[in-house]
Amino acid sequence: MRGEIVLEEPFRWVDLNRGQRIVLAGLISNVLLASMQIFAGLWGESRAVLADGIHSTSDILISLIVIISLGIARKPADDSHPFGYGKIESIAAFLVGLVIAGAGVTLIYGAAEAILGGVETVPGALPLGVSGVSIAVKGALYSVTIRTGRELNSPGVLAAAQEYLSCIACSSAAVAGIVGARLGYPVADPIAGLLVAGIIMRVAGRTVWSSVRDLMDAALPIQQVRAVRSAAEHVDGVRRVTLVRTRRMGSRRLVELDIQTDADLVVEEADRVSAQVHARVAGQLDPADEVRVSVAPSSNEKVQREKMAATIRTIVQAHAERFLSFQGPRMIRLGKDLCADVTLLIPQQTSMEQAYGLCQDLERDVKRQYPEMEVIVRLQTPAPGGGER
Ligand SMILES: [Zn+2]
Repeated sequence: MRGEIVLEEPFRWVDLNRGQRIVLAGLISNVLLASMQIFAGLWGESRAVLADGIHSTSDILISLIVIISLGIARKPADDSHPFGYGKIESIAAFLVGLVIAGAGVTLIYGAAEAILGGVETVPGALPLGVSGVSIAVKGALYSVTIRTGRELNSPGVLAAAQEYLSCIACSSAAVAGIVGARLGYPVADPIAGLLVAGIIMRVAGRTVWSSVRDLMDAALPIQQVRAVRSAAEHVDGVRRVTLVRTRRMGSRRLVELDIQTDADLVVEEADRVSAQVHARVAGQLDPADEVRVSVAPSSNEKVQREKMAATIRTIVQAHAERFLSFQGPRMIRLGKDLCADVTLLIPQQTSMEQAYGLCQDLERDVKRQYPEMEVIVRLQTPAPGGGER
């Protein structure tokens, strides 16, 4: 296979061209197999092989969705579609799921009618040969695809490999049905057809269900959400993760996180914490996925105020030789700012100048730590009638 899908947007999975080549090889094999199977099923009168042909056709449609998702769905977000075009993939998957389900119901109806009405016809050698070819081709595709998927560590390619196993199951059922019919049990062929139709319905159900979930912005699987939360919580400086919101946009995953940092972090540090959370979480996802981190100071103001009060106490204590004892600080909110209110008991012989100097020094030291903070220092002497500033 030398073909390559030409994309408008660079596709950022691990190894673009190999993954794409595998998907494209599978698609072309399926087109050939599906036409052979449908022809052989109709011409050779085998319901099982006809059903298998429909199954291969549904695989083609699903591969086409993957290819669409690499094109339109990856168009970057713009003013009219600020979240991007990823949902087009889910809408296409939903419609394809309905088409596959319709085909499945038709096959079930036909096979049931054949079983109940009594089958006379016995499939010829052509459908048997085609099913044999199908098993061989899909077996080869499976082994190449699973190897590539493991090497690239690509969930999309691994899922394609898994699908080949159900293809092999379908074609094997068809072989069993045809062999049974040729051994004198004509009903074996429509029974195999029914089995294949059951597998088709399962594929349809899964396609419809997952596309509806994506369209409804359902969360990612709970293990993934937990892993994201724990990655964020383990970053230094994160006090609390208050929100983890996840959803799918086509094949991309979108993760939004709200984190709280210590309230006294400077903006630059908070930015660094947020960048680290972003890197940790993004490290768990694919490069195409999107992570947004909002950071806010810890809303736990009580804890925050206690921490500030403790710091201010340490600052006051640094001047302990200039007063007898102190009370506070009381932390008071004044509009947007916090105010620290400290009461000092000073020796009676303290001069006005010393007292004033002490107040100035305390205010300066507190403001060095908390520039926005208002400081009130009340001075008292042990005797009645103490001064106050
Ligand atoms: Zn298949």
